[in-house]
Amino acid sequence: MLVDNHNRKINYVRLAVTDRCNLRCNYCMPAEGIDFAKNDKLFTIDELGRLSEMLVSQGVDKIRITGGEPFVRKDLMVLFRRLSGLKGLKDISVTTNATLIGPYIDELKELGVKNINVSMDAINRETFERITRRDQYDTVYNNMVRLITEGFNVRINFIALDKQNTEDILPMLELTKHYNVSVRFLEEMPFNGGSKKFQSIVWDYKRILAHIKEAHPDYRELESPKTSTSMNYKIPGFKGTFGVIPSFSRTFCGSCNRLRISATGDVITCLYAKPSMNIRDLLRSDHSGEEVKEQICKAIGNRAKTGFEAQQRHKGVFDSSMTSIGG
Ligand code: SAM
Ligand code: SF4
Repeated sequence: MLVDNHNRKINYVRLAVTDRCNLRCNYCMPAEGIDFAKNDKLFTIDELGRLSEMLVSQGVDKIRITGGEPFVRKDLMVLFRRLSGLKGLKDISVTTNATLIGPYIDELKELGVKNINVSMDAINRETFERITRRDQYDTVYNNMVRLITEGFNVRINFIALDKQNTEDILPMLELTKHYNVSVRFLEEMPFNGGSKKFQSIVWDYKRILAHIKEAHPDYRELESPKTSTSMNYKIPGFKGTFGVIPSFSRTFCGSCNRLRISATGDVITCLYAKPSMNIRDLLRSDHSGEEVKEQICKAIGNRAKTGFEAQQRHKGVFDSSMTSIGG
């Protein structure tokens, strides 16, 4: 089992499979994109499979596939198939912009991938297109509804962006009236690859909740798992639920159970920290699996206690883009 230097058990890995994306969300990267990694710097699917096996042997029981946009990788289903055969891996999930997932929905269901996070920051078409800088609204909306009606556990991630989409918070919430879906409102984080200046946030989780409360004063809090980053709520009579994620306020560090590995092998022990090591070349060299595992343990043994501490330790961390980190 992986346990960090603050006695937190690490059983959840967010594994990025690419840093590329077919959208250009303005809170994530500049319009022209970032300096994307060359293909040979990205893990191969076989390497991702091997790495996953090692992590599972170390007690990881949840792997979330992320990116960039994971489905820009044409060979992604090969990885899902391999993960679905891993004994000990209880939860395989994916975070996607839902533009390219359509052809894979049936197979994902067969493989037992249940938890799908769909990023959708507007219910209004123009707002969606302005934020993503692409015209994929219909595809995303239709795939999102299909995933819900096919029985996946769908969570919609909506970043509250001042002067951009906050008028969509309540209309987005209406989805939970009709569908068994969870809409989670996230605070913006400073990882936009230089897309825009970031000072601080205007819409923190308290303001989001206050805004929702004005329209729905009777919402009630739900019990959430201890390691959950979201605080979750239900509006009486609504089929779904909603949540807020204080990703910038960082109220959840005390119970953090996650490790991030980028598509190029960077091991990131906290979102607000710079990578502590790179595992790709080690995996490609003659080092044995045991040595790779040892290095993972070493990185976990030197984690910052909170995102604030990590931010202090790692100046310049805000220059990166979430498309390289994996969210
Ligand atoms: N492309 C996929 C997607 O958008 O769902 C997966 C990768 S994306 C980097 C993972 C998550 O990070 C998404 O939910 C996205 O909204 C979130 N994200 C990206 N940039 C962010 C930022 N600056 N602040 C907060 N969340 C961000
Ligand atoms: Fe792409 Fe996801 Fe970043 Fe949007 S948030 S640009 S969909 S990686």
